[in-house]
Amino acid sequence: MMTGLAKEVADKESEKYGRCESCNENAAALIITDLRSGKAYRVCHNCIIELVNVSLTPEHFFNMLKAGHSKHEFWLHDDFYDWNIGEALQPKL
Ligand SMILES: [Zn+2]
Repeated sequence: MMTGLAKEVADKESEKYGRCESCNENAAALIITDLRSGKAYRVCHNCIIELVNVSLTPEHFFNMLKAGHSKHEFWLHDDFYDWNIGEALQPKL
């Protein structure tokens, strides 16, 4: 459980960057930009690890699409994920 202080900090981060586009639970702590597509990813500290290791869970993969990301972006490319079921095909974790 979060302490009052941790919650306060998380709420402030959430105000700044919004919710993580991958898990939809944690406050986004980082914004990284895909240099090819110019798309920005707003993710929490946990999901950045999944994203750059092409190891998103199916739930997180589809959350990224719902957040407006495209399967044509490098990090979500079909070499890395089965687009139908969201399964990571070359997970590095
Ligand atoms: Zn997250």
